[in-house]
Amino acid sequence: MRKLNRITVVGASLAGLRAVQALRREGFEGELTLIGAEAHTPYNRPPLSKSVLQGDDDVSLPGAEELGEDWLRGRLAVSLDPTGKAVTLDDGSAVHYDGLVIATGARPRRLADHPEGVHTLRTIDDSLALRAELNAGHQRVVVIGGGFIGGEVASTAQALGHQVTLVDSAPHPMLTAFGADTARWLAQHHRSNGVELISGTRVVGFEGGPRVTAVRLSDGRSIPADLVVAGMGVTPNTEWLESSGLTLNDGVVCDATLYAQGASDIVAAGDVVRWPHGLYGDALVRVEHWSNANDQGTVAALNLLAGPENAKPFADLPSFATHVHGARIQSAGLPHLADEAMLVAGAFEEGRFAVGLARNGVLVGAVAVNSPKDLIRLKRGITSGSPLGAVPA
Ligand SMILES: Cc1cc2nc3c(=O)[nH]c(=O)nc-3n(C[C@H](O)[C@H](O)[C@H](O)COP(=O)(O)OP(=O)(O)OC[C@H]3O[C@@H](n4cnc5c(N)ncnc54)[C@H](O)[C@@H]3O)c2cc1C
Repeated sequence: MRKLNRITVVGASLAGLRAVQALRREGFEGELTLIGAEAHTPYNRPPLSKSVLQGDDDVSLPGAEELGEDWLRGRLAVSLDPTGKAVTLDDGSAVHYDGLVIATGARPRRLADHPEGVHTLRTIDDSLALRAELNAGHQRVVVIGGGFIGGEVASTAQALGHQVTLVDSAPHPMLTAFGADTARWLAQHHRSNGVELISGTRVVGFEGGPRVTAVRLSDGRSIPADLVVAGMGVTPNTEWLESSGLTLNDGVVCDATLYAQGASDIVAAGDVVRWPHGLYGDALVRVEHWSNANDQGTVAALNLLAGPENAKPFADLPSFATHVHGARIQSAGLPHLADEAMLVAGAFEEGRFAVGLARNGVLVGAVAVNSPKDLIRLKRGITSGSPLGAVPA
């Protein structure tokens, strides 16, 4: 382990918390500063689009209580000087470091103009504001984007008794992430659970004011709305690094060990990172999954302590789980790289199946619906580079 006296972690959510915990566990005894833009103790985001909207306030993140009060909350890092080894905060003060962990995550994309009644969902405050609006009886809910968060919000709002319209620009929601057959199944799953799905169309604007009354679609239609939730993907929070000289390209570009490219004292973790993934021929990827932020936070911190020469590559298999209208949907690997898909277990019409996704005949991803055991063997197949036709039993 090399000798570092001062480590600063920017971003106090899952990846940042795991970095701090790993540093403490590993016996780092120097000065440790955690900086977080939110006023809250680190919390868990997955419940924000599910149980919190249904009234359950539990978003606790195991380990967050270990932080105590001794960290900088409600403070935004506004710039980084890697030569002077200093992070400048929004109050003008500077925090100096010998080692830095960047864990500033991502934020939702927005359309240019958001009138009252149009929500995005990333923070606990966003979720509570949306819950209050759902409870206020705004009946016609339009969800923009059929990705994970849009799909979950549509499912939750529908279960709460709202009239839900889901608008997605792809021919079927999650087409790129899941492949055509599973995406078709998901479209049908939304419809049979009472969601009106409008596919292949984009939302181009809103009507009404100050409160939204409708969304305008690219095909000229207007869809009445009392409440709109935009789930249109995220943008990594890297603006504060723009003058730093670090390589930024849809995230902080890192090497395989999560060191920021060209830096020997800066690592990054979580939704903000783009790194070459060893399982995929070092393709540069950015992964927006809970398990990725959780595991990278630890590995990035340990690599920082170890130093670049002794750092270990991070090549964990991406994996994700969600619940939509009662179905447990899991994915693993990088399904979007696939050029071929095959049903390996179950049947679409039974709502219980697993699909292997391959590129050049070799498994690169998997999706399973209500079939967790099949996902496990598909995961083994992906990590061992199995051909699609020879998924492990
Ligand atoms: C509603 C919702 C539901 C989800 N559901 C699932 C799910 O079911 N399964 C799953 O695998 N994943 C899910 N995710 C994704 C998962 O929560 C993220 O992958 C994870 O939170 C990423 O953690 P992170 O620490 O990298 O970044 P974030 O959680 O985005 O945290 C980054 C933190 O850094 C702070 N920050 C940003 N810029 C600065 C700055 N300049 N200075 C100081 N602080 C800063 C931010 O305020 C934020 O607190 C969900 C996400 C959301 C929003």
